[in-house]
Amino acid sequence: MPEPSDKVKNLPTYALAKLFAAKDRKLREGIDVIDLGVGNPDLRPPEQVIRALHQALDDVTKENHRYPDFAGLPEFRETIAAWYSRRFGVKLDPRKEVLPLVGSKEGLAKFMLAHLNPGDGILITSPCYPAYLGAATVAQADTYQVPLLEEHDFIPQLDRIPQDVLRKSKLILVNFPNNPTGAVASDEFYERLKEFGLKNNIFIMSDIAYCDVCLDSRFRSRSFLEFDRGRENSIEFHSFSKSFSMQGWRLGFACGNSSAVANLLKIKSNMDFGVFMAIQRAGMAALEQAETFSRQMSEVYRKRRDAFVPELLEAGWHVKSPAATLYVWLNIPRSYSSSDEFADDLVEKTGVLVAPGSGFGKYGEGYVRISLIASEERLVEAVRRMKEAGFKY
Ligand code: PMP
Repeated sequence: MPEPSDKVKNLPTYALAKLFAAKDRKLREGIDVIDLGVGNPDLRPPEQVIRALHQALDDVTKENHRYPDFAGLPEFRETIAAWYSRRFGVKLDPRKEVLPLVGSKEGLAKFMLAHLNPGDGILITSPCYPAYLGAATVAQADTYQVPLLEEHDFIPQLDRIPQDVLRKSKLILVNFPNNPTGAVASDEFYERLKEFGLKNNIFIMSDIAYCDVCLDSRFRSRSFLEFDRGRENSIEFHSFSKSFSMQGWRLGFACGNSSAVANLLKIKSNMDFGVFMAIQRAGMAALEQAETFSRQMSEVYRKRRDAFVPELLEAGWHVKSPAATLYVWLNIPRSYSSSDEFADDLVEKTGVLVAPGSGFGKYGEGYVRISLIASEERLVEAVRRMKEAGFKY
C-alpha cells in the first residue's frame, strides 16, 4: 500500500462526512432521525430547470455529451454576466472574468492551489465552511483563522490581525451571508475589506453561496465586486446548490479579476474538464429566472425559520434569528464540555442530528449548526423532542 502524502496525513476526516455516517448508523438502528446536520437542501430544483436538463440530454443538434470546454459554454458565461449585471449592477466580461465550476467547492480549493506556495499565508474567517480549511491544508498553506465572534455580530475585526500574519498572507477568504453563523455583511464592512486588501497586498476571495437565500425581506445581500468595480483585487465564488437546490448537480462559478480567473482555469484544465454541457444549459434556465426561483426557495426557509426559532426561544435557548442562509447557530448548554459531546447526546436521546461547531474551525466550539432542511412540522417536532428529553440551555 502506498504511504499517503503529508497533505493527506495532515487532513482530518471531513467534518460533514462524519454526519452522513452518523445518520446512516442511527437509521440502521431503526431511529426516526430528524436530520438537520449537513446543509443539504431537501427541496426539488425548479421544474423549468429539470425540463431544461431533459431537453439538453435529448437534443441531437448539440454535442452536449462530448468533453466540455474547460472555460465553459460561451452562452452560459454570458448568462452569468447578464445575471451579475441585473442582480448587482456589475458588468463582467464573460470571456475573461467568468469561469463555470463543478460546484464552488472545487473552485475554492483549486484557487488556493493556483495561488499558494507551501508556507504562504491565507486568512480564513472562522467558524467557516469546513472545506476551506481542508483546501488550505492540501495547498500546504499557513492558515490564520480570523475569529467571527458573537460580540461583534460575527463580523471579522480586520484591525486585530497581527502585523506579522498580515505580512505573509496572500489571500483572505470571507463568506457573507455566512455559513455557519448566518451573519450578514454591511456595506461598511465591505468598504473596509476593500481598503484592507489593497493596503496589505492581500487578495480577496468572496464566497456568496447564500446571497439569494434571503430570509428577511428588508435584507438584500450584495456582491463584493460592487465594492471592487475594477476587479483589481478580488474574485467571487457562487453556487447553484442553495438558491436552486441543485447541489447534487455540481454547478457553480467564479468571477472577478481576469488574471486570477486565468490562473484558476490553468490549474483546472490540468486536473479536470469543464461542467457537463447539459448541466450548464440547465444552469442557464435557472439563472434566467433566478429572481423568481430564489424568492420561492427563500420563502420556504423563511417559514421554517419562523416556525422553529420562536419555539427554541420559548424553550429558553440562546439563539439569534438569521436574516439569510439556511442555518441556525445555536449556543450549546453550559453543562456540556464540547459541541461534539452535546451533538452526540442530542442524537442519542432524541434522534435530532445537528452539526457540532468544532467541525467549522477553531472558533466554532461552543455552538452547533442546525440546518433548516426539514418541514416546519419536523422542526417543531425536533424542539418538542429536545424539551421532552430534558435538553435546555
Ligand atoms: N461555500 C459555502 C459557504 C458553502 O456552505 C458551500 C456548501 N455548503 C459551498 C461553498 C459549496 O457549494 P457547492 O455545492 O457549489 O460546491
